Amino acid sequence: MTNPIYVTRPFLPPLEEFTEYLEKIWDSHILTNGGPFHQELEQKLCEYLGVKYISLFSNGTLALLTALQALRITGEVITTPYSFVAATHALWWNNIKPVFTDIEPETLNLDPDKIESAITPQTTAILPVHVYGNPCDTERIDEIAERYGLKVIYDAAHAFGVKIAGTSVANFGDLSVLSFHATKVFNTFEGGAIICHDENTKKHIDQLKNFGIINETTVVTPGINAKINEFQAALGLLQLKYIDVAVDKRKQITETYRAALGDIPGISFIWDQPDVKHNYAYFPILINPKEFGKTRDEVYEEFKTNNIFCRRYFYPLISQYPMYCNLESAQRGRMPVAEKITQEVLCLPIYPDLGAEDVRNICNIVHERPSPHRR
Ligand SMILES: *Cc1c(COP(=O)(O)O)cnc(C)c1O
Repeated sequence: MTNPIYVTRPFLPPLEEFTEYLEKIWDSHILTNGGPFHQELEQKLCEYLGVKYISLFSNGTLALLTALQALRITGEVITTPYSFVAATHALWWNNIKPVFTDIEPETLNLDPDKIESAITPQTTAILPVHVYGNPCDTERIDEIAERYGLKVIYDAAHAFGVKIAGTSVANFGDLSVLSFHATKVFNTFEGGAIICHDENTKKHIDQLKNFGIINETTVVTPGINAKINEFQAALGLLQLKYIDVAVDKRKQITETYRAALGDIPGISFIWDQPDVKHNYAYFPILINPKEFGKTRDEVYEEFKTNNIFCRRYFYPLISQYPMYCNLESAQRGRMPVAEKITQEVLCLPIYPDLGAEDVRNICNIVHERPSPHRR
């Protein structure tokens, strides 16, 4: 049997290069608490991403929790059922009621047309996700938020380096949250960040992530411990050296998949958006069982028997998990697009080191389907 292929494999720079950073950490004995690598990474990320203020976090989920605290969000927040569960959990941990609304069939992001009818007097914010790194309709979402006096926090965990018309996707909304988890396009083992627009907000967020401490004797707000450490920050600095090459390799794999699988009836893709710089974080395909002749789960199992571990991101919907399924907005039939897509989606392996032959094998497995006239 060949080596297993997983849906992703974290990118790591050459070990010798990381050792140099480790030696500096050993010399200085500064391990955390806003050390020199932390400071340097914040500055380099602002430059690389094209954002004004960034606060680094030990992971994306703590960044989401803190973003909600920073804006004092309460009551109800409109969010997507079609994502990783972290953002909805962050609402719950803040005692906020998630209100799910349906997604757009083209981008699989929160559908702006569905937001307004979900707004109630308790609604204080919208929490959309740039799913797979494909930007939300930020223009319309931000316009609705402004009209109703709502805050917008974008979960940009998938969207590192993505740009809309030359502007970082992380510049939209009131705050954007990134994740640098091992499985993401840019990783610091674990890590995350909040991007904001002004110095005071950054200061407030930096206090919140360090217990609310501002000096030896003064604590000004009930903060948490969510600081990134020097090892994480050092890896981030190194990863920046390789990020453009890594995204380029992802793009090539995406193009190979699209060329090889584009003509198969019943298989469809999410396409690039005009004037967007994508990061090719994931390669989801949608499998229409009637047209393709097999269900998504049959294809998923077939991959497994070939030692290839695709993932059904995002199945089930967040709204279908036991702690959320009793909410009114989560009831079956209310989000027909998300309910259909969650049954059809399969994310194929994609990561910078995925070899051309592996990509060919993956495509061949999709091609092995019963021909329609033999059924
Ligand atoms: C990974 C992820 C998160 C959480 O980030 P962590 O760094 O793993 O805590 C949040 N939202 C989405 C959409 C994610 O994919």
